[in-house]
Amino acid sequence: RRDRLHSGERYRLGVMGGTFDPIHHGHLVAASEVAAKFDLDEVVFVPTGIPWQKANRDVSAAEDRYLMTVIATASNPRFSVSRVDIDRPGNTYTVDTLKDLREERGPNTDLYFITGADAVRQILTWRGADELFDLAQFVGVTRPGVPMTVDDIKHLPGDRVTLLEVPALAISSTDCRARVEEREPIWYLVPDGIVQYIQKRGLYRLAADPDA
Ligand code: ATP
Ligand code: MG
Repeated sequence: RRDRLHSGERYRLGVMGGTFDPIHHGHLVAASEVAAKFDLDEVVFVPTGIPWQKANRDVSAAEDRYLMTVIATASNPRFSVSRVDIDRPGNTYTVDTLKDLREERGPNTDLYFITGADAVRQILTWRGADELFDLAQFVGVTRPGVPMTVDDIKHLPGDRVTLLEVPALAISSTDCRARVEEREPIWYLVPDGIVQYIQKRGLYRLAADPDA
C-alpha cells in the first residue's frame, strides 16, 4: 500500500498522539481498529513532549516513553513512531504535531488524528482549534468509563469528526502506574516487553521502595 504514494493515490496516515506513560493495549487496539476501518496505510504513534494537560504530575522521561512506544509497536509493519513532539522544545500542542507531520510527509498524505472519547470532547479547547480541522480528519474512539454520544461532538464540524466504537479495554496508563507502585501485575494490560522495560528501568516505583 505504500504503492499508493507512487500510483498517485493519497496516502492515508493515522496519527496516535499520547503520553504513553506507559503505552498499553488500549492504545494499540484503538490504533489497529481505526487502521482497519479507515483503510489506513500506516499509523504513526507520537509520544508527547511536555503534555500541558499533565503539568500537575511527574511524567516519565521522554526517552523512556519513546522507547516503550517503539518496543510496543515494533512487530506491526503498519505502525511507526515519530519523535516530532519530543524533539520540539516547549509544550506539545496537537496543531504543531499535525503541521510537522504534514511538512514531513508532503502534500499527498491525508492525516487521521486518533483520539479517545475523553479527549475528543475537549478539542475546541486546544490551541489552534480553528486550524485543526483543516489539518486532519478526527476519529474519536470509545473508551470504557467515558460515555460518548453524538451529542458530545455536535459542536464539532460533522464532516471532520467521526466516532468509532472499538472493543472495550478498561485500561489506562494511570492504572498501570498505580499497579506497578502497588506491586500488582500489569501482565496482559501492556505488551510483555513493556512489563520488562518498566522493571528494568525501575519506572513508577516510589523512591522509598527498598526494592526499587
Ligand atoms: P493517563 O491515564 O496517564 O492519562 P491514558 O491511558 O489516558 O494515560 P494517554 O497517553 O493519555 O493514555 O492517551 C493517549 C490517547 O489514547 C488518548 O486519546 C486517549 O483517550 C486514548 N486512550 C487511552 N486509553 C484508551 C483505551 N483504553 N481505549 C481507547 N482509547 C484510549
Ligand atoms: Mg489520558
